Amino acid sequence: MPVTRSQIVTRGLSNRCPNCGGHTLFQPDARFRINGQCPDCGLKFDRGDGFFLGPFVINYTVTVIGFIIPVILLCTFGKLGPMAAIATAGAGALVIPILLYRQSWSWWLMAYFYFLPQKLPNNRDTLHEDEEE
Ligand SMILES: [Zn+2]
Repeated sequence: MPVTRSQIVTRGLSNRCPNCGGHTLFQPDARFRINGQCPDCGLKFDRGDGFFLGPFVINYTVTVIGFIIPVILLCTFGKLGPMAAIATAGAGALVIPILLYRQSWSWWLMAYFYFLPQKLPNNRDTLHEDEEE
């Protein structure tokens, strides 16, 4: 396979296109606008109905496990007052998903193509050539 799973993970962790490795996931002038497809290789980033929910789930999970639950534990064990915990959790619930927007898209594409690497155009061409032989 021209694109290996380790390359998919490396590219996913560095916010690059899983197929060609270009820094093409997002439009250069807009932080929160993903390209419909890679301008270099043509890979579709938004793969249809409901695909955009994957980044939401990753963002929600990271925010809850990495921030909200620790704040609740700090409050439970008396290290943080209830009002401070509510304010901190509320602020984190708003700010963290914004900060993780790009990473959540990249991680979602990484997870998708890690399990379905044959859907990458570079790998599909290889499979097609193999079938012809
Ligand atoms: Zn690409």
